[in-house]
Amino acid sequence: MLHRVKNSWVVHKFGGTSVANAERYRKVADILSHEPSERKAIVVSAMSGVTDKLIELVELARKRNEVYRAKADALKQQHLQAAEDLGVLGELAPVLDADFSDLLAVLKAVWLGKSYSEETLELVAGHGEIWSAQMLNAYVCKEHAHNPAISRSRWLDARAVLTVRPGETGPIVDWDVSKPRFQAWLGEDDTPWVVITGYVASRPDGVTTTLKRNGSDFSASIFGALSDAVDIVIWTDVDGVLSADPRRVPEAIVLDEMSYDEAVELAYFGAKVLHPHTMAPALMAGIPIWIRNTFNPAHRGTKIHRPDPNAPRNFVHAVKGFSTVDKVALINLEGTGMIGVPGVANRLFGALKDVGVSVIMISQASSEHSICFAVPEAQGQTAKETVEKAFFAELHHGHIQRVELATGCSILAAVGDDMVHAAGVSAKFFGALGKAGVNIRAIAQGSSERNISVVIDQKDSTRALRAVHSGLYLSDQTLSVGIIGPGLIGSALLAQLQAQAPELKSQFKIDLRIRGIMRSERMLMANPRIDLDTWAQHFEKDSVPADLEAFVNHIQADHLPHTVLIDCTSSEEIAFKYKDWLARGIHIVTPN
Ligand code: ASP
Ligand code: MG
Repeated sequence: MLHRVKNSWVVHKFGGTSVANAERYRKVADILSHEPSERKAIVVSAMSGVTDKLIELVELARKRNEVYRAKADALKQQHLQAAEDLGVLGELAPVLDADFSDLLAVLKAVWLGKSYSEETLELVAGHGEIWSAQMLNAYVCKEHAHNPAISRSRWLDARAVLTVRPGETGPIVDWDVSKPRFQAWLGEDDTPWVVITGYVASRPDGVTTTLKRNGSDFSASIFGALSDAVDIVIWTDVDGVLSADPRRVPEAIVLDEMSYDEAVELAYFGAKVLHPHTMAPALMAGIPIWIRNTFNPAHRGTKIHRPDPNAPRNFVHAVKGFSTVDKVALINLEGTGMIGVPGVANRLFGALKDVGVSVIMISQASSEHSICFAVPEAQGQTAKETVEKAFFAELHHGHIQRVELATGCSILAAVGDDMVHAAGVSAKFFGALGKAGVNIRAIAQGSSERNISVVIDQKDSTRALRAVHSGLYLSDQTLSVGIIGPGLIGSALLAQLQAQAPELKSQFKIDLRIRGIMRSERMLMANPRIDLDTWAQHFEKDSVPADLEAFVNHIQADHLPHTVLIDCTSSEEIAFKYKDWLARGIHIVTPN
């Protein structure tokens, strides 16, 4: 982000949690004032949860539930309170008064008619963004009153500019209308900050519409393209895109960068990246998207971009990320009658499309003897019955022997552009699964070679994820180490490790992770490791009563390749355990 063109736009998008209350709005303004770009297009969501509340109001009114009035009032109070805390009540109060009196009129009509149209729902649902943008803009103008440039900041009601029409896979932007409107709105004004409503837009006939749930990311991407931005920054509550779900893989790391393609694949497999649809305008215009953390703005975040095709390939981390989709069913269609018969797949997937079953993954052996595919578990039974119906004759004549349904499965996918060029990635991938004792039910590799997917039993999915993550991401020599009894010898050892660890890692690729320290009475356990510079203070503060069994279980983590226990005690009781530990595959080091 260093070499930006002067006066070019950067889009900054803040989601609902980033503008949850007055304090968060202040934080947003603070972040913005420390960001370098000259011109900022700031796209905001509604305050957290507000869109849901607005939708609920409409539903309540339709059901003639009186409580909608009280709830509408609470929503108004929430905004008035935030405005007051920010010192912008003077600007916001008249806006909120007018808007809520309109809203109540609309809700009254819904009440009377006991029904509402799609248009009415969208009109109401979009108000959170309309208030949020005005809130932030008013605050920014007030905060930067001394700065004549920023205090001219304006807010843009995106409905005045952004025109979309409904499409099969979501709203389609009418660029030819939206672009000149945006230019016209900007006019000659070179104000450096513009606050824009996310989520809302207009239809070609001028009726208010929305970009559907979580649409503000899409707004950011669209305004990136409309303003020819050099970057789009999506501010959220994580440091960036992670190599795996951190709740499942404690060793997951934040990725520095990834390609649009990788982001799309990972999102498809359920990783919390941007929705692929959202990225389309940025992707078409080649604008990098950054994922950054409002709660930790010092972190540079993850850059999603179109990598330079001539840049050196990353063979070490050929796999960027891992992801799983749970609650999957696997259907296997088996029969000699399919060999060499064209059109079987077409009939099969045509029939599934007709009943609206979405196929997540397909795999066909080249013998053509079987086709197997994965669908969401909830659609498993329908899928099976549909296939049986479609191939009724073949089943009857024995050309297809069986259609089997297996539920309780997960898909595990490894994604990375550089897998194409790196030999041995799949060997490592399957090797890691084999070592972890994970049974593989089906395999598919996209021909883009950007993705290897396997179907496994759902009960194995966390173990499998950890095994492949450590197999492909960590050095083979990653050791999970526990130290028992850091007396004289133990403390000296810790000091030595502290001094040598960086060199062991850089020179010999040995990654020693001290993950636990145990004394006679208390123990300290940590993830991913204990910081050896401060372990003594850490121990003071966070240690818990000693429990040898729990300690050993923590050190022997199935997401790390090797476990080492260093016994610095001369306790017979502990030595007594060696036999068990060795049997569990734990290495033991002891000076006594
Ligand atoms: N406020 C809208 C929603 O919650 C849009 C967004 O936040 O992206 O879906
Ligand atoms: Mg949101």
